[in-house]
Amino acid sequence: MDAYRATIDETADMLADRVRDLRQPYSGASLAELRDLVDGVDLDTPLGSTGAALHEVGKLYLDHAIWFHEPTYLAHLNCPVALPAISAELLLAAVNTSVDTWDQSATGTLIERRMIDWTTARIGFGPTADGVFTSGGTQSNLHGLLLAREAALAGSTDRAADLPRLRILATTESHFSVGKSAGVLGLARDAVVPVATDGTGRMDPEALVDTVEELRDSGLLPMAVVATAGTTDLGCVDPLRAIGVACRHQRVWLHVDAAYGCGLLVSRRRRHLIDGIELADSVTVDFHKSFFQPVSSSAILVADGSTMRRIAVHADYLNPRTATVPNQVDKSLQTTRRFDALKLWMTLRTMGADQLGEMFDTVVDRAQETFRRLTADPDFEVAAVPTLSTVLFRYRPPWLTADDCDRLMPRLRARLFDSGVAIIAGTTLGRHYWLKFTLLNPDTNGEHIRSVLELIRRTARDLLDEEWDCDPAIEPATVAAGGA
Ligand SMILES: *Cc1c(COP(=O)(O)O)cnc(C)c1O
Repeated sequence: MDAYRATIDETADMLADRVRDLRQPYSGASLAELRDLVDGVDLDTPLGSTGAALHEVGKLYLDHAIWFHEPTYLAHLNCPVALPAISAELLLAAVNTSVDTWDQSATGTLIERRMIDWTTARIGFGPTADGVFTSGGTQSNLHGLLLAREAALAGSTDRAADLPRLRILATTESHFSVGKSAGVLGLARDAVVPVATDGTGRMDPEALVDTVEELRDSGLLPMAVVATAGTTDLGCVDPLRAIGVACRHQRVWLHVDAAYGCGLLVSRRRRHLIDGIELADSVTVDFHKSFFQPVSSSAILVADGSTMRRIAVHADYLNPRTATVPNQVDKSLQTTRRFDALKLWMTLRTMGADQLGEMFDTVVDRAQETFRRLTADPDFEVAAVPTLSTVLFRYRPPWLTADDCDRLMPRLRARLFDSGVAIIAGTTLGRHYWLKFTLLNPDTNGEHIRSVLELIRRTARDLLDEEWDCDPAIEPATVAAGGA
């Protein structure tokens, strides 16, 4: 125990010192520099003490980590983490619980089950609901679609013939793990059928019904509808109630991918955006996105727990059919599995759901403010009104052509990353390249946003100046108005 304490203290001290001195989300080191650092370590010559290894790791890893809690990290769906969850992480790693069977977890299984029940109650599922923690939204989506596949084939007399006829309906904005899952599940290459959206990118429920009927008319089997509560780029929330009603009517499994939008479950101001989520058959939530939990922390929740038993496999040594205790492995795709539920438990017991919801609301508010700031600035163009906490925009003063802008934006984004001062994302939408802010840090304030936008403006002008200096083919006259 003395060694344990010393190790933890030493680690915590180093981390705290590093974090205290941080000024930006990334050091800006190049790939070549970092590769040399990592490849330069002789793995067959151990250093002999944790302190020495820590010192080395400090230089390799901490000095060049990407820090999600830094207020100018605005790129992907990564969150700063809640301290109670880090405390839990310390416990679950040291105890090394595996929540696959009762005899490897005891209370761990019961705590995970309470966290599942808590989440299903928030969704509005009834007493038959169930679920299990997973490694992330990708696995949760795969799991939900596996259950949908098994439900669709439950009465089948010829699985081999029916499998290639199964179809999944989703918008083109749904997460790429939906297509990946279709492949893993052995479905046809064209199994994911796009459903038309309204002008804002949300699934059109009437078009959904039409598509389901067309598929059936042509002898295909609609197996699942995937509605997204918070698309990765625009943060769109599909109209869940209308989709849920349509799915019940059509008798198609509804999977709601709320990997990003799950924070709305605890929002007091915006819970209405996912009204109707309780009509789903299965729901993906990523606590490691909008619940401020460390990776990994995700869950698949189902309205009817008995559907999970379709995939149960029994091993005599682990979870025999005759077991009289709860074995979570019956429901999970994993066997040995982290006790991630403890992190959410500690967070809820320390901060409570309302505070988490307030934190998520804060970043959504910030996205709205950012949108207003951008629309008021003639140098910027904005793709859409934000629903959640992402904002898609580009630096495009009136004198910059759309083509030049498309060429400039990826280079601008790379230059920012290379500086390490701010990290932003990029994506294409409607054939154009957009910069993206993903706001998931409640500590990012309006001043941080303002300074990053100034940095973007300055960097764009620097890049254009450099181009004009070396490319006489571009007529400076065409840009005279705003190039200065
Ligand atoms: C992030 C995300 C996923 C994938 O989740 P991981 O935890 O990264 O595996 C799935 N769907 C949506 C909408 C997401 O935003």
